[in-house]
Amino acid sequence: MTEPAAQQSVFHGVSAATRAFVERNHRLHIGGDWHDAHDGARLEVFDPATGVAVASVPAAQASDVDRAVAAARDAFEDGEWAHMPPVARERLLLQLADAMEAHADELAEIESLDQGKAVGMARHLDLTMAVDFVRYMAGWATKIDGRTVTPSVPYLPDQTFTGWTRKEPVGVVGAIIPWNFPLLMAAWKIAPALATGCTVVLKPAEETPLTALRFAELIESVGTPAGVVNVVTGEGHAAGAALSGHPGVDKIAFTGSTEVGKRIGKAAVENMTRVSLELGGKSPVIVLDDMDPRAAAQGAAEAIFLNHGQVCTAGSRLYVSQRHYDDVVDGLAGIARGMRLGSGRDPEAQMGPLVSRAQQQRVTDYIASGREQGARIAAGGGAGEGGGYYVEPTILADTNHQMRVVREEIFGPVLTVMPYDDLDDAARLANDSPYGLGASVWSNDLSRVHRLIPKIRAGTVWVNCHNVLDPALPLGGFKQSGIGRELGREVVDLYTETKTVLMSV
Ligand code: ADP
Repeated sequence: MTEPAAQQSVFHGVSAATRAFVERNHRLHIGGDWHDAHDGARLEVFDPATGVAVASVPAAQASDVDRAVAAARDAFEDGEWAHMPPVARERLLLQLADAMEAHADELAEIESLDQGKAVGMARHLDLTMAVDFVRYMAGWATKIDGRTVTPSVPYLPDQTFTGWTRKEPVGVVGAIIPWNFPLLMAAWKIAPALATGCTVVLKPAEETPLTALRFAELIESVGTPAGVVNVVTGEGHAAGAALSGHPGVDKIAFTGSTEVGKRIGKAAVENMTRVSLELGGKSPVIVLDDMDPRAAAQGAAEAIFLNHGQVCTAGSRLYVSQRHYDDVVDGLAGIARGMRLGSGRDPEAQMGPLVSRAQQQRVTDYIASGREQGARIAAGGGAGEGGGYYVEPTILADTNHQMRVVREEIFGPVLTVMPYDDLDDAARLANDSPYGLGASVWSNDLSRVHRLIPKIRAGTVWVNCHNVLDPALPLGGFKQSGIGRELGREVVDLYTETKTVLMSV
């Protein structure tokens, strides 16, 4: 039997192992076993480069989520996991990092087929960061400690007390993640949970469920007890909503849009479930007048076009000093025009498709709105050709803060540019946004850089770089960009409860 041409082109250049995994009968991972959704419903998974369906996964409903939460609760309260010492959890995480590294090529190919990004980028960025973070969290497993205090208790002068605090695992974690860095986001939630002794129910985004299912297999292959990590695939309004409102969940860890984050926060607070929210952004990039315009254009292009603009910290608003404005816009337009669009499996391509047809539509609608509101299209502006979900890298010049393209998160390869007058003007424009996730300042004038940093209302300020993350440095948002900090020592607080012990001695 000959294969349909579409199917052939989708799997062209990927390994047999990747293809075998993608074409498997995918199921929910609950309590160490594999299950269909209760009602048998399924969701299709598309290759963004061609629009061809490559797989399907169960569409979990509330009853499936109930089952997963019960499995996570059992594993948390009783059995091997509940009694596992920190050093054994550390070893498990180190073994997991090794397993991810051993399967990195396969995971990168699955990610590319599912998400659209280049295999090379998935391998060298997503996988490297995920493995590095799992190793970083392994180190924390044995270093979580409390404080000892000598209480005074002045109203009981005849008694002596001693007091201390314990950091205890928060319990069952419901993790809901987006589609831009599917495996990395899963690692950002699961690794701290395992380091602290929690258990997890993970709901990947409906667009990109595949690497999470493969990750679950690897987690189990290194000896993680059944029920510690469960994966339920399904839609946000069904499986996601059931998880965020579930009374059996102790903490929700969410990454995604601000709109959905607010809904999840409200549902979680109803049960007083702990909640951390890593949400949207509209991060400013500020180029000072001492910068070489060519270097500034290159830096700004990298800040917006990484992962095709589908990055919560993407540098999507560019502010350039009047002096270099025209040169930087021209430089950026040249870079954008020179970028070759193509499949994530095409090593020559410099930008792949967006994740879905809906995202392609959303981004091209934003470009149309920018055009209508008077922005000048210095480069791009169109959707790519063929069946894939492509959008050209787009530079919108001469923008202003009344435009939707400046105020709202687009989550695509679209950069708005405008000039500013002086440092105060730059800070005012940078802060004139509901979001406050990231920002970057480009200059070698140290004194002006230092003056600008405290003025910017954002969780991260990069200087002469953008979107660079390290496991040891916290990430999170001011304002509508979220609540809580992931990564770094701060993440340990999100996955633990502090218990005070006061003893009369
Ligand atoms: P994006 O805009 O990046 O698609 P979303 O915030 O829509 O991000 O989705 C991020 C995650 O939130 C996905 O896993 C999605 O299924 C989930 N989600 C969407 N709506 C809800 C909801 N009402 N309750 C819980 N989870 C949801």
